[in-house]
Amino acid sequence: MTSLDDLPLRDDLRGKSPYGAPQAPVPVALNVNENTHGIPEDVAHDIVASVATAILSLNRYPDREFTQLRTALADYLGHGLSAENIWAANGSNEVLQQILQAFAGSGRSLMGFVPTYSMYSLLAMGTGTRWIAAERDEDFELSPETAAAAVSREQPDVVFLCSPNNPTGTPLSLETITAVYDAAPGIVVVDEAYAEFAPVGTPSALTLLPGRERLIVSRTMSKAFAFAGARVGYLAADPAIADALRLVRLPYHLSALTQAAALGALRHSHEMLAVVGEIRVQKDRIVAHLSELGYKPYRSGSNFVLFGGVADTRALFQSLFERGILIRDIGIPGHMRVSAGTEAETSAFLDALAALTSKV
Ligand SMILES: *Cc1c(COP(=O)(O)O)cnc(C)c1O
Repeated sequence: MTSLDDLPLRDDLRGKSPYGAPQAPVPVALNVNENTHGIPEDVAHDIVASVATAILSLNRYPDREFTQLRTALADYLGHGLSAENIWAANGSNEVLQQILQAFAGSGRSLMGFVPTYSMYSLLAMGTGTRWIAAERDEDFELSPETAAAAVSREQPDVVFLCSPNNPTGTPLSLETITAVYDAAPGIVVVDEAYAEFAPVGTPSALTLLPGRERLIVSRTMSKAFAFAGARVGYLAADPAIADALRLVRLPYHLSALTQAAALGALRHSHEMLAVVGEIRVQKDRIVAHLSELGYKPYRSGSNFVLFGGVADTRALFQSLFERGILIRDIGIPGHMRVSAGTEAETSAFLDALAALTSKV
């Protein structure tokens, strides 16, 4: 066995750390923003039936164009979209990676507004793209003026806007998105991984797509849709964007099993999304209780809450972990992030936090 230092690794990867949210078998895992409600059993059986049928044909490569899945995703999104507007991959992380492979890479740059989703800079690193970390306003908000000024100054080839932003939960206005689009010379991606959790009536960046051929809206089945383990992410954009991604994707990148499972789940989108309202209730409950306990929760349009006012984040992480509860230390001093769980999981977190807080 050798060590990484002894291998002829690319110079720009030396000394770097991989993505690493802790994975530990605890009773209450509220650290990676999953939908913690399981899939209804009757839905699971119907998905299995789809997968079983697909298995009979696994001797053949899958539909390289995943046409049925793209049609189902377009129907799910609405907004007048059709199959040609849709692209999908194994999680939206792979979709984002393909976007960088096609539109960024060596000699080009990607801009994001930090703190933001940690995978953006890692995807830049993996594709040899220069990462530009631009600043946010007070309380992690992002105004049209601040965002557009950074884009005008740096002229990035690609901009990733996370809406709402992970790990802060901050909603992003359509005004900020259009200001960035108007200032940007290249591709603008709005990552709407958490869109389904937004308050009812919140407009999606999907409404901005007509007439904006450099705009991409990224979505995932990993969060509200309760399908993280299946690895299905997708985007909506001008059909020419999909043509660009065909140049960089691996042939047959979406397995027949993935396509069948995703189609099965999309047949039951109402049942899959039935708990979203309940999760919003738990998120609001977390915000209210954190304030009562003297912490500073931030505005969240998502299923998670960032809160400040933590004296020692490592100690709080450890104390909760010892009680079987996992939340996230995202590296912002004095701040932690927690996902809304079921009512029981959320209560376990809030009760443990109240007990720990009164002790200090
Ligand atoms: C969780 C998350 C994703 C989803 O990644 P998948 O690869 O689809 O599981 C994408 N973007 C953000 C900001 C996320 O938090």
